[in-house]
Amino acid sequence: MTDSRYNVIIIGGGVVGLAFALEITRRFPRLRLLLLEKEDGVARHQSGHNSGVIHSGIYYKPGSLKARLCVSGAAAMVEFCREHGIPHSVCGKVIVATHPEELPRLEDLSRRGEANGLVGLRLVGPEELREIEPHASGLQALVVPSAGTTDYALVCEKYAELIAAHGGTVLTSAAVTGIRRDPNEIIVETARGAFSTASLINCAGLFSDRISRMAGDKPSAMIVPFRGEYYDLIPERASLVRALIYPVPDPRFPFLGVHFTRRITGKVDAGPNAVLAFAREGYRLTDVNLRDFTAALVFPGFWRMAFRHWRNACAEWYRSLSKPAFVRALQRMLPEVRESDLIPGGSGVRAQALKPDGALVDDFQFVPSGKVLHVLNVPSPAATASLTIAKAIVDTAAFLSE
Ligand SMILES: Cc1cc2nc3c(=O)[nH]c(=O)nc-3n(C[C@H](O)[C@H](O)[C@H](O)COP(=O)(O)OP(=O)(O)OC[C@H]3O[C@@H](n4cnc5c(N)ncnc54)[C@H](O)[C@@H]3O)c2cc1C
Repeated sequence: MTDSRYNVIIIGGGVVGLAFALEITRRFPRLRLLLLEKEDGVARHQSGHNSGVIHSGIYYKPGSLKARLCVSGAAAMVEFCREHGIPHSVCGKVIVATHPEELPRLEDLSRRGEANGLVGLRLVGPEELREIEPHASGLQALVVPSAGTTDYALVCEKYAELIAAHGGTVLTSAAVTGIRRDPNEIIVETARGAFSTASLINCAGLFSDRISRMAGDKPSAMIVPFRGEYYDLIPERASLVRALIYPVPDPRFPFLGVHFTRRITGKVDAGPNAVLAFAREGYRLTDVNLRDFTAALVFPGFWRMAFRHWRNACAEWYRSLSKPAFVRALQRMLPEVRESDLIPGGSGVRAQALKPDGALVDDFQFVPSGKVLHVLNVPSPAATASLTIAKAIVDTAAFLSE
């Protein structure tokens, strides 16, 4: 027995699930679409706990999904914000090399950005860097004009409003607890009843691997939660940062290193770091979920990753536990910043897919299984790229037709 029948059900009311729902309701107005979210509102996890940066696409391997979808996605996000009156700013950013060994990596980034189709990239020396960011210091900096900021929680609310306007339904407080696949339909059990659907899209973020198993599939990777912790610059010192100041990232690691972000509200924060969380929704150091933690410990890839990245992991933990160490990392780019300028800010938890061989999945990953599509790895820049991710995947999803 089910309460209702749908053509498409989407699990997850984050920016990716909502973007899929928006794309489908716009393109196929006759399809009955239901989006299920376990929290009592949208954007309660990654999509509402991020840096709010509209990434340019400079970091990603040319030809990768991230590179293709981020560059076009950034333009689409700016256009969406403009069209719907969502606060945003194309403020540009600087990536600052502070050690001689970072200089070739900065040049590589510049070449990568050009290969990805970015325009206006410029390598500048310390004087010109100071004209752009008067308090920043470095040997050389790469200026990326197309980077910007917005508020992805507001973007999600607008997506949800438009989905409803196009005839779709967003149902909150509806945690999915079971999935049954029959020959002609898929039954999705939730805290608010059971629903039947012809096709299902799993956009459950930190739980996407568990939903995949619930649907009877065997995900090739496991989601590992990495908490990102922020400090806020006190308002009196927010003038130290005009826009976005980033370090040169470590190419062996998928995270960008602690940086400064002037949010669209004017608040400036520093972070996020990347420490392993002991719970998938572990926003605080003390949040521990035994199921999540033991599942990670028994996954062979976890120990291989630990062996491969232990140095980096220790450095991240040290910076998490020691404010002076966190501040020292920031002072490389902004020497005037002091411990007393920073107060603890928020945090977010990234869903990062990990393979059994210990490698972190680098690119976006979408895994079709009959009439089910699992969105298994959509870390940053997926908020930026959400509109183009949805468009590109719906373009190829043969099972979605009227
Ligand atoms: C600290 C941090 C900083 C970041 N900075 C940026 C940035 O500046 N720019 C950028 O582009 N990207 C950034 N990202 C990445 C970006 O936020 C994510 O890629 C994006 O939000 C992923 O969206 P999502 O919809 O897949 O996941 P989520 O937003 O996590 O949504 C998944 C949803 O599924 C729901 N769900 C889970 N299980 C169930 C269930 N059983 N039943 C029903 N619902 C369920 C959850 O409640 C959740 O709402 C950052 C991420 C973090 C954590």
